[in-house]
Amino acid sequence: MPRGVKKENLPSKICATCQRPFTWRKVWENCWDEVKCCSDRCKNERKRKLQLANREQRSPDATTITHVDRVPTSDPEVNSSPVSIAASSRPASPRGPQPVSS
Ligand SMILES: [Zn+2]
Repeated sequence: MPRGVKKENLPSKICATCQRPFTWRKVWENCWDEVKCCSDRCKNERKRKLQLANREQRSPDATTITHVDRVPTSDPEVNSSPVSIAASSRPASPRGPQPVSS
């Protein structure tokens, strides 16, 4: 950026994330062409959105897999199985055939 440019003549861009205009800053003097967002927050937000979009485009099943992976942790059967093991390890009922076998 040439020196001596008046503040009101500074170049500006529209933020790719929040769609608001922002003006050139000293920190961007070496990378102004690559600047797409007005702030780090918008930059991170944009990156996140791009990653999400890419993920959805590349593998539509990815969300399903994550969903399946989550199920066992919240599955009530996981918690109930130790209980049923404890119940079945009790001495067999003297009444004879166990109802479990049916
Ligand atoms: Zn922004």
